[in-house]
Amino acid sequence: MQQSSPSAPPPGDLPDGDLPQNGDAPYDAVVIGGGPAGCTISTLLAQQGHRVLLLEREVFPRFKVGESLIPATYDTLRRLGMLEVLRQSRFTEKHSVQFYSGRGRASDPFYFREIDESERSQTWQVLRSEFDQMMLDNARRQGVEAFEGIQVREVLFDGDRAYGVRLQRVDDGRESRDLLAKVVIDASGQRALLSRKLGLRRQDPCLRMAAMFAHYEDGLRDPGIDEGATLILHTEEQNSWFWYIPLPDNRVSVGTVGPIDYLIKGRQGNPEATFEEEIQRCPGLVPRLQRASRCSPVHVLNDFSYVSEQVAGNGWMLVGDACGFLDPMYSSGVLLALRSGELAADTLLPALADDDLTADRLSAYGERFKNGMDAFRRLVYAFYTKGFSFGRFLHKHPQHRIPIILILQGDVIDQDFSSLFEDLQAWLGEMTTADGESPATAMGSVKDATADDSGRAAPPDEVSTSSDGVPASP
Ligand SMILES: Cc1cc2nc3c(=O)[nH]c(=O)nc-3n(C[C@H](O)[C@H](O)[C@H](O)COP(=O)(O)OP(=O)(O)OC[C@H]3O[C@@H](n4cnc5c(N)ncnc54)[C@H](O)[C@@H]3O)c2cc1C
Repeated sequence: MQQSSPSAPPPGDLPDGDLPQNGDAPYDAVVIGGGPAGCTISTLLAQQGHRVLLLEREVFPRFKVGESLIPATYDTLRRLGMLEVLRQSRFTEKHSVQFYSGRGRASDPFYFREIDESERSQTWQVLRSEFDQMMLDNARRQGVEAFEGIQVREVLFDGDRAYGVRLQRVDDGRESRDLLAKVVIDASGQRALLSRKLGLRRQDPCLRMAAMFAHYEDGLRDPGIDEGATLILHTEEQNSWFWYIPLPDNRVSVGTVGPIDYLIKGRQGNPEATFEEEIQRCPGLVPRLQRASRCSPVHVLNDFSYVSEQVAGNGWMLVGDACGFLDPMYSSGVLLALRSGELAADTLLPALADDDLTADRLSAYGERFKNGMDAFRRLVYAFYTKGFSFGRFLHKHPQHRIPIILILQGDVIDQDFSSLFEDLQAWLGEMTTADGESPATAMGSVKDATADDSGRAAPPDEVSTSSDGVPASP
């Protein structure tokens, strides 16, 4: 950890060029990463007149997985001023989620309008290259100073208080300068710069998963309102599952997720071969891809489920994947990135006004965020329990259809799902006792279900490659 005084002069000796600089005073906030989480918190701070610097190591547009939004993104997108941009976009409209059993049998679609008839019940399947560019452009329009191709090398600390960042231009790799900030916000995604550095990152031992994914052209879509539905399809033995996400340009995003031991370690072949084998094991998917052709490499990622023990400290905060990532199953990633950015901004704004940037004050959003994430987590664990099906559970407990839709559409913050989860846990217990499997760990709380990886594991985008050898970023 860097130990130098906040008043130390920046060591950078490069000419100013187009690099950011402090000027007369520290930035109010420096944000590491220009994905949905970083753009959200930056924009909300800039809207209130704060001087915000956002540093993004990539040059946009860039490929990114995570294409399916869920309806509760609506509220944050509205605050950001993004709704009109999305209404005018060419992104596919999404109204529902539908699940397919290992035998290829479809559940009734879960239509979001069952709860709410308003525009909020419709969302979008996006190309992340374009969506993230729109978010960054929107942040700039609202006053955020955003730089691309600039990597944060480290967060600067004075004791345990963050006071700035050391940055580097990515193109020439030369050391540039240190910048001072009242607060440093880590929105670096699965790189999780700060939680790795501080040893706060906890892998979820129940979710040691891998994912393989690609784009296809000419995949079969359902007609009408179902055209843009996300499909979640089990493979025959329920060893893995697929997502099927219709995108613009007649493309569809197809991806499979399963335990690393099954999808990676247990296989001899290359990713394309494994991916194709899994497709053939998924009766719900095969007919949809019969006339389709793959138009991208097969990307591979693994070990992406973790959470940080702390969400904030003295002078620093975590948002989005830098704080934690669960599982792709319910498309919760962008929603949680947006909501954590929003909750963190609403915590930070009064703290900046009071000039109180202590850990206690900045951590206030953590509980609400983690409780919300836990609702998704419990439904993820249920889905990974062999024999689980929404149809069968709802047949026995039809009263839980609305709470399940609430979770699927992302309305998880400040909600009480205890009745749903009590019945779900009991039902899984009955079901798996018959099969000789115990769901106890899977349904346990996140506190029980995490293991210390001490920040040693390499970030997924460093260890994973697509089949053409190109590093794949989550
Ligand atoms: C297999 C898979 C499928 C998924 N599918 C979905 C889905 O369908 N729907 C959904 O909502 N979510 C999905 N997700 C999750 C989603 O991709 C993420 O949750 C979301 O992108 C998180 O946003 P973020 O802003 O926190 O991070 P990111 O979008 O990862 O943005 C972080 C940014 O920080 C930058 N950065 C990193 N390090 C530095 C540094 N040192 N200096 C400067 N910049 C830096 C990166 O370049 C990146 O642009 C999926 C995830 C996986 C793994």
